[in-house]
Amino acid sequence: MPRVTHLTDEEIAASADEPVLGRIAALLRPYRVKLVLVAVAVVTAATLTSIVPFLTKAVFDDALFPQSGGPDLELLGWLVAAMCVIPIVAALIGIGQNWLTSTVGNSAMADLRSELFAHLQKMELAFFTATKTGAIQSRLANDVAGVRTVLTDTATSILQNSVTVTAAFIAMVLLSWQLTVLTLILMPIFIVVQMRVGKRRQRLARKTQESLSEMTAITEEALSVSGILLSKVFNRADAEVGRYREANRQQAHLQVDQAMTGRTFFATVQASFAITPALLYLMAGLMINGGTALTAGTLVAFTTLQARLQMPLLQLMRVTLDVQTSLALFRRIFEYLDLEPAITERPGASHLDGSQLRGEIEFSDVWFQYPEPRELSGTVNRDRFGETGVRIERPEETADLDDDQEPTSGWALRGVSFKVQPGQLAAIVGPSGAGKTTMTYLVPRFYDVTEGTVLIDGHDVRDLTLGSVSEAVGMVTQEPYLFHGTIRDNIAYAKPDATAAEIEQAARDANIHDRILGFADGYETITGERGYRLSGGEKQRLAIARVLLMDPRILILDEATSSLDTETERLVQEALERATHNRTTIAIAHRLSTIRSADMIFGVEDGVLVEQGSHEELLEAGGLYARLYIEQFGSGQIEARFTDGVRFADGSLMCERDPGDRRADVSF
Ligand code: ATP
Repeated sequence: MPRVTHLTDEEIAASADEPVLGRIAALLRPYRVKLVLVAVAVVTAATLTSIVPFLTKAVFDDALFPQSGGPDLELLGWLVAAMCVIPIVAALIGIGQNWLTSTVGNSAMADLRSELFAHLQKMELAFFTATKTGAIQSRLANDVAGVRTVLTDTATSILQNSVTVTAAFIAMVLLSWQLTVLTLILMPIFIVVQMRVGKRRQRLARKTQESLSEMTAITEEALSVSGILLSKVFNRADAEVGRYREANRQQAHLQVDQAMTGRTFFATVQASFAITPALLYLMAGLMINGGTALTAGTLVAFTTLQARLQMPLLQLMRVTLDVQTSLALFRRIFEYLDLEPAITERPGASHLDGSQLRGEIEFSDVWFQYPEPRELSGTVNRDRFGETGVRIERPEETADLDDDQEPTSGWALRGVSFKVQPGQLAAIVGPSGAGKTTMTYLVPRFYDVTEGTVLIDGHDVRDLTLGSVSEAVGMVTQEPYLFHGTIRDNIAYAKPDATAAEIEQAARDANIHDRILGFADGYETITGERGYRLSGGEKQRLAIARVLLMDPRILILDEATSSLDTETERLVQEALERATHNRTTIAIAHRLSTIRSADMIFGVEDGVLVEQGSHEELLEAGGLYARLYIEQFGSGQIEARFTDGVRFADGSLMCERDPGDRRADVSF
């Protein structure tokens, strides 16, 4: 059964920032020495700058306007020198500290990105079929880049400003506790404003990020080669533009909202900041009037200090917002990292030794149901828990599913059992949607069976190491995937250390060598994204060359449904025959002519294995295969070739098979 993790709203609420902070700390652990240096630099620079207001007080009270006599120019000279040197030293420390934080932030971000990429590589096929590529890309690119600021600027800013605020606060108390009390009374006003607007801004930040992922996904879908083909073929350009425009409009709206919320916040805070010194002067006047000794130097130093307190406080508030935004981004990244790959290796899984492998495949009472897509914030159905951004793996309806319960939706395979002997060529036939591809996906563990067992050489595939299963099973899919690169690299993908001679031999065996030499750049020809610069037949033969180079013991062939011209068909067919030689092959055959020589043919209908046998046996049985066969050959001329002796079960046709008759092979 698929793994079930259901989180309640309480659990979601509990999974707030603390664990996230812990994980961020873990991410920074390798850089702790540099971080300690950063802390030392920050504290030194902040302490140094906090001395300056005291120098200002001394300038006023002792150097410029001493209690007796004129200005003390010597003292003034020293004080001014100190006031010049201190900021320069602090700035130099700041530059060094910036280098350190930037190095730490970018390295940690690179670590996170690599970890995420490696983790996604481990995810099962089902994850990618259910998740938009653009959303994944956005998480890797935008979200990870978004959190870099928290690791570089924000973390230092918090430390720097906290130290400055503390130092300034102590200095203010030392100068005048009464004025400090007044400043502290005014401060909560900012905090209330900050809390209110901050929450709204955080919500908007998440929505904006999600809407951005959505837009990236639309762009990826619509502007990819397949997307553009689809929209052109079905004349959907206007609809695509409309979809993009709507997402774009929403994005613009969110951006304006976000900017306005930020602006309101600063406007309110700035107004309060302007009012504070004015009120301080009033208070000072009242204090002096009441007989408290308060020098001009103290007042000047105090207002400088409270400004020094206010600016870092304002930054700390901004930082809080940045941290909240970044934490939301971190949560989204961790959400992906927390996804457990559904297809994993059991502890102590045995390694299938390639040289010992016989290549027997067995399905024992296999039931299979496609897993429900996992829900992720910003990817699939994000509105459900959009505010929390926390992962829910299965929808509620099936969340309580246990082994005793029937899954709610249909089975793709139902009780399939069969065996393919080593070296045999087995073919699967059946109508579209019968479950043919699904059957083949279970062998290399693209999916795991829901019930029953798939065995290779008598071993349950789930007991084998993932690496050895991938090495044992090669696949030529219906639509071979070619990446943007040279033909040589595309063939060598299966065996990066292959020699040029091996690559050429594989290409020769796949009947594509001559064609490759026909290209101006030969093996160095760039295939173009997803091989769009090559014809269907060429792509298929390149995919066959790739699998021949891999030389797996078991081969799965998903025959292309698109029709090829007779010559190409012959070339592909020959290549396939060579590919199946000396290995166990399971072929999904759409053109029944191609599988007449199969050792075993499996007829599948609606997820059930309805019949099995050789071409002759199945024709004679007159079931699904015979029906498909006659459908393909039509009821005219081809039937006439089998006029003596093949008998179909419904008695509608009686004809005699002629095993030597190959005419059918060229007919479709
Ligand atoms: P065709 O000849 O058209 O390729 P097929 O026999 O190979 O068809 P499968 O692709 O195995 O059929 O599909 C079997 C059933 O499983 C179909 O009903 C299909 O809709 C369903 N199915 C296939 N892939 C998925 C998926 N990723 N998630 C959910 N259901 C799926």
